[in-house]
Parts: sequence; C-alpha cells; structure tokens
Amino acid sequence: MNKIKNYYSYSGVIHIHSTYSDGSRDIPDIASIANELDIDFLLFTDHNTLQPKFNGLQGWYDKVLVGIGCEINDISDQNHYLAFDIDKEVSWKLPPKEYVKKVSGLGGFGIIAHPDEKRTSMPEYPTYPWTVWDSKEFNGIEIWNQMSEWMEGLNHLNKFYRFIHPRKSVTAPKQETLRKWDELNLERKVVGIGGVDAHGHIYKLWGLFKVIIFRYKVLFKTIRTHVLLTEELKKGKDYEKGLRQVYDALKNAQCYISNFMLGDADNFRMIAISENEEVTIGGMIRFHKSLRLQVSTMLKTKNILIHNGIAVNETIGDKTEFLLQKRGVYRIEVYLDKRPWIFSNHIHVV
Ligand SMILES: [Zn+2]
Ligand SMILES: [Zn+2]
Repeated sequence: MNKIKNYYSYSGVIHIHSTYSDGSRDIPDIASIANELDIDFLLFTDHNTLQPKFNGLQGWYDKVLVGIGCEINDISDQNHYLAFDIDKEVSWKLPPKEYVKKVSGLGGFGIIAHPDEKRTSMPEYPTYPWTVWDSKEFNGIEIWNQMSEWMEGLNHLNKFYRFIHPRKSVTAPKQETLRKWDELNLERKVVGIGGVDAHGHIYKLWGLFKVIIFRYKVLFKTIRTHVLLTEELKKGKDYEKGLRQVYDALKNAQCYISNFMLGDADNFRMIAISENEEVTIGGMIRFHKSLRLQVSTMLKTKNILIHNGIAVNETIGDKTEFLLQKRGVYRIEVYLDKRPWIFSNHIHVV
C-alpha cells in the first residue's frame, strides 16, 4: 500500500487458477506465496466453479486479501469471461451473451478474458478469443494477459527457452486489444485490467522430462493491477468490506496495470485537475480551459498521452503535465527503458 494525496494504492494479481480447476496448487498455498511478494489482493477465477467461495476460502490470509470469482466459457470452450462478486454459479451451457447478462443480473461484474488471443505456430494448442462484441453488459476487458502473450509467440524452436524463462515473454499488450478498448470507452466506461492466468502448469518436454512452468511465484512478479481506494484497506478485518472496496474500484476503472518485472509501480499517480475540479483514473471531469493532466511515475520514464485512441503527446521525465484541450477519453502509457511498464485506465472529459 502507498498513499499519495487522497488515494491509497494497492497492487493485486487477477485471474488465477487453483486446484479447484486446472491450477497446480491450492488457495492457501498460493496466498502464502503472495504474502512474500508484497501483493495486497488475489482474485481467483477457477473454470466454471465458485466452489472455493462456497467452501469459505475468501478472506484475509495474513496481509493478502483473497476474492473468488470464476472463469466461464461456452460449450465450444470459447468466450472466456471472468465473473466476480456473484453468489451463484452461472451455467456455461448458456450462450455467452446470456452469461454476460446473468452475471450483471446477479449484481456481479465481468471481464472479458484474453479477448484477441491468436496463435499461429503451434496448432495443437487452440486459442480462446472473444467473439460476441455486440454484447453490451460486460464491465471490462483483460487488456494484458501474461499466459496468452506467452503462448502466442511460442513455437517449436523457442519453446525450451520460454519454458525456462516464462517472464521474458512479457512485453506489451496487443495493439488490437488497446484499440478496441479505447473505442469501447468512447461509448461507455469499460475497465481494462491485467491478468496472469496463473496455473502453475506441469509440462512434459518432448515426452522426456517434466518441468513446472508458470510457477505462481514467477508469474506473480509480472502483470499486476493496482486499485486506487479513497479509504484504507483494513488488513485482517472485515474481508467483505475489503472486497467491496476492491471490486468497486475495478468496476469504476479506478485502476492501472503494470509489469512488475520492470519495477514496482505503486507510486504511479495521474489526476486531471482544473480550477474547479479534480479526478483520478476512472473519473469524469468537465472540460475547462485550465484542465490539465498531472502524471507522476517517480522514475525517468517516457509518458505517452492517448486521446480517443490516438497518441497525441509524449514527454520524458518523472513528472509531467499535459494540457487537455479537447473533450474525450484520455489515458497514459508509461515506458521504462523502452519497455511498456504502466497502462492507466481512462479519464473521461465531458
Ligand atoms: Zn481462459
Ligand atoms: Zn484462465
């Protein structure tokens, strides 16, 4: 946790599988790994089951808050959807548009997982893209998925290297997904999150020997989603209240995504400020000629301002101020040593 101005920032890992589906470790075990790595919350999404939630596994595990949702897919195993804050399971036999509706009907919220997954070189591993974009009730999309990115570049020549160094394949979110995300935000607020899709898989290489790739410990040092809260999380206290705070921040897009491998991004801040108003990431502010965006990264970074999906300005430095001269949706991409490090959600200027 880190406080700057009126916001507390907490870093979390979203989209994790446990032994309740195809993960290799149980939830308390995974939570104890997270406790060593300065992670504030973990959101589990086992395939088509809320059983760990029914079994009472949500709560505080020392300093880590565990929330449990699920990852729903359709009968053809496409259209993976991360559903949170629901108390009933949703049938995966429904068509995707129906389960998207059902999740919001149950008072929950949902994120489209790995929306644009593509693989060209290894046909034996199928892809799981999102195909029903005309569905309007989803709350967000996973703009960066560690597992998807890893699988995408995988081929028979590099697979040994990639098995040994899974973190090296984390480079950048897909341009196609970012474009879609910006477009969606021109219509309504759609949150972007980062997912690791952690399984702790055991793979057999050439049928000869087994290696565990995607160790939770390694993956937990890659893509993180940071939420900004107005009130501190009370560690070890009422976990339901804590989860409410985290879920509300995610739903409101009061969050940003980072690649932890390049450094801890807990200090990142971005506010839009005018003579009369001030909002942070996920907020909405009225246009005013004095309106500017203040960005602070604490390191010498390249900071790119994106307006309605187009890069309109860039600076180098640890503190930047951009004048916002038009209405629309603004977000920031931060690069450290030429590598993508932080992606903010949008601020809407109306
Ligand atoms: Zn999936
Ligand atoms: Zn998954």
